[in-house]
Amino acid sequence: MDKNKSNNSKKEKLKTILSILLILVLILAIIACFIFINKNNANKDEKELPYTELIKEISNKNVEKIEMTVGSTSAKITLKGMAEGEEKITIVPNTQVFMELIQEQALEGNEIELIQNQRSILSQIPSYFFSLLPTIIMVALFIMLFKMQGIGDKGEIYDETERKIKITFDDVAGLDEEKEELIEIVDFLKKPEKFIEMGAKIPKGVLLYGKPGTGKTLIAKAIAGEAGVPFISMSGSEFIEMFAGLGASRVRKLFEKARKMAPCIVFIDEIDAIGARRSGNSGAESENNQTLNQLLVEMDGFSSEETIIVLAATNRPEMLDKALLRPGRFDRQVTIPTPDLKGREAILAIHSKDKKLSENVTLKGIAEDTSGFTGAELANILNEAAIIATRNKHTVIEQEDLDEAVKKVTVGLEKHSRVISDKDKKLTAYHEAGHAIVSKFLPTQTDVKEVSIIPRGLAGGYTMYKNDEDKYYISKTEMEEKLIALLGGRAAEKLALDDISTGASNDIEVATQVARNMVTVYGMSDEIGPISLKNDNGELDYQMFGEEIEDKIGREVNKLINTAYRDAQTILTQNMDKLHEIAGVLLEKEKINEEEFKKFFNN
Ligand code: ADP
Ligand code: MG
Ligand code: ZN
Repeated sequence: MDKNKSNNSKKEKLKTILSILLILVLILAIIACFIFINKNNANKDEKELPYTELIKEISNKNVEKIEMTVGSTSAKITLKGMAEGEEKITIVPNTQVFMELIQEQALEGNEIELIQNQRSILSQIPSYFFSLLPTIIMVALFIMLFKMQGIGDKGEIYDETERKIKITFDDVAGLDEEKEELIEIVDFLKKPEKFIEMGAKIPKGVLLYGKPGTGKTLIAKAIAGEAGVPFISMSGSEFIEMFAGLGASRVRKLFEKARKMAPCIVFIDEIDAIGARRSGNSGAESENNQTLNQLLVEMDGFSSEETIIVLAATNRPEMLDKALLRPGRFDRQVTIPTPDLKGREAILAIHSKDKKLSENVTLKGIAEDTSGFTGAELANILNEAAIIATRNKHTVIEQEDLDEAVKKVTVGLEKHSRVISDKDKKLTAYHEAGHAIVSKFLPTQTDVKEVSIIPRGLAGGYTMYKNDEDKYYISKTEMEEKLIALLGGRAAEKLALDDISTGASNDIEVATQVARNMVTVYGMSDEIGPISLKNDNGELDYQMFGEEIEDKIGREVNKLINTAYRDAQTILTQNMDKLHEIAGVLLEKEKINEEEFKKFFNN
């Protein structure tokens, strides 16, 4: 899957490079053409003999030879006394009149050698060719670009008939209920006759909802693997093309191919890219509409006897056009959740099969430390841990390797090389100490696991908290205290250094988001009450309840944030000695672990 992705991105790169080259060639060719035509014209200027001049020369008996081609208005003129091979060119406005004139002259004794050539196509080619060259190049360019898209087509329809899919449900950990729901599809694909005989309608489309990395692609492949049918896949974003109508034609091709291979699975990843709700008529959007319409036409088009099952994945179900969800289209929807504790342990088990784990490490322990992680992240952690263990010259993967891997995947790699000024360090130390101390005094917040002022990823420092049990509900108090903890960093900067920094910008962003959700989604504010301001499409829509609600939201969010900030300051003011002490130790040691942190509070 990853290989496929990098292949695609390579192809994309190649495409761009080819396009740029083509455009360059085109520009050069056009310039060359202009130079050629201009040069020709320049020659012509010298050689050209105006018609009126020619008449004069004729009446002066100065013309030796006139050569004309039937059907052409240009005449080659040889004047008396001109060197061999030299000639002038005159455009004759009316050849009929001109011929009569020469005949008259001949009768009058003015002998001009008149040569009439049959029109030869060959002789015309060069000038025609060069005047048409820009057009020819343009047409060629377009044909080539279209061809390139065509080449892309072939590559991008990801066809695994040659390499039979070996992934089965055994490779998908957790997700037991989802597998149970989807095993039906496998049966349909294996023995469609049975269902048809019974008069059952085979489902056409199944939509998989879930965060990135939860295993949607994996489970779709497993269905194909279990049923032993071809898996044809395409990503929604690949349908969005620069040429109008191409997206639609790709959909057509995809289904043409599917019909030939049926029974089979068509997998459309990121379907939201084409299936976004239809609105407006702007360029890109109407292109999308064409693609989406084609998809709907195709899905309505094949009969249930054809046994093509379309699986589609998205992490933004609220974006989808409702037309996609009508009966006969994606009428089944399966949510793929982020794994719970048991699920995480199962996923870790699958991905640690080929890895050497120390006996001191338990998968359950890792699972407990990783609530909220997706399958992809868990697989990634084990892989990172193996790399870190190798780098640390361990013979097996130790707990510390895993801990480091978890941090790497969550906050990014430690950056020891970045040079940080003492002033920045001091600011970070107070900031992180602020977070840690404030959350220590908040009953709903989990214990501090580590405080550090070593930069990681984009963050200048971090405070890690111990993981929570998987929780389904979060209380209002908990959210309020979360706000206080988030603002603890900013509050500490203000109190200890009497200055504030941009270092808290992410905290503030998150806090604002939490507060807004409390007011508009969870109905946790006094002034607005238990009302959700989301419309049917899952978007916030303040207008629904009148204009004044916006003011109320603003006031409530403000109140929540300011109260939290004040509470954070209060806690820190009462613990100023601890703030200075912990910030000091951080400056000295850069990192404080759980045990060390607890010691500051004698427990
Ligand atoms: P999605 O399509 O939902 O973004 P993927 O199916 O691409 O997620 O998952 C990426 C990788 O994560 C898989 O190839 C697999 O290695 C791992 N993974 C995710 N979910 C699971 C799971 N339930 N069981 C085993 N591995 C999983
Ligand atoms: Mg995927
Ligand atoms: Zn912070």
